[in-house]
Amino acid sequence: MEQENCNWFVFYKDQILILQTENGYHVPCCTEPPVAVPIGSTIHTIGEMNGLPCKTYSLHTPIPGSESPARQMMGLRASFDFLPLQEYQMGGKAFQILNWDQNSRYCPACGVPTHQISPIAKKCPQCRQEFYPRISPAIIVRIQKGDSILLVHARNFRGTFNGLVAGFLEPGETLEECVHREVAEETGLHIKNLKYFGSQPWPYPSGIMIGFTADYESGEIKLQAEELNAGAFYTKDNLPEIPGKLSLARKLIDDWLGENSQTDLG
Ligand SMILES: [Zn+2]
Repeated sequence: MEQENCNWFVFYKDQILILQTENGYHVPCCTEPPVAVPIGSTIHTIGEMNGLPCKTYSLHTPIPGSESPARQMMGLRASFDFLPLQEYQMGGKAFQILNWDQNSRYCPACGVPTHQISPIAKKCPQCRQEFYPRISPAIIVRIQKGDSILLVHARNFRGTFNGLVAGFLEPGETLEECVHREVAEETGLHIKNLKYFGSQPWPYPSGIMIGFTADYESGEIKLQAEELNAGAFYTKDNLPEIPGKLSLARKLIDDWLGENSQTDLG
């Protein structure tokens, strides 16, 4: 029987192997793993793309000679600008599965090796506890006041751009309560008319962003100094540097600007 082609998502740390072809940049599509699979590395089947299975595994060392433009390792975030969206998104899933695999090798209660029982489940043979990839939800919100929106610079942003208020969901909280709490804690403002906008997996390393829009209700901006070092309302004609197309923040801002973001979140 002829062997089927697979889409291969090969990682070294957060770097993904991509090929430059006549039809643009793609992950390798071939029958055999494009790079020797190291001992101790598991090949995970993570889904299907264009009717072909998608598989992923990680390398322990960088690929020698992978610096040619035709075959290179590239940071997953950077690959967004090169790979077709579907391949970038599947790359994100692959990265999360590999991360989970690496971090769930032993049962945290018994300390014995876990067994993988499905593509996204492992089980402890001793206490029978099951382990799934952990996904950490975080909210992000666009707050509008008249013809302006609130943009902030968080201390943990990778760059000089200004983004939107965001934060992690806490145990026992609804997403809506989380938005109100984060906005009040980080900016001192109160908001109203909270509406769901959309969501986006954020595989850095295991998040999902849940986006909302809201209107300013009351309060003066009082920044939480440990989290934010800048924040103000901006109109369309005095916007500072804003986040890249990769992010849900940008899609929320583009939506307000009346522009279509390239990222179709479905
Ligand atoms: Zn156990």
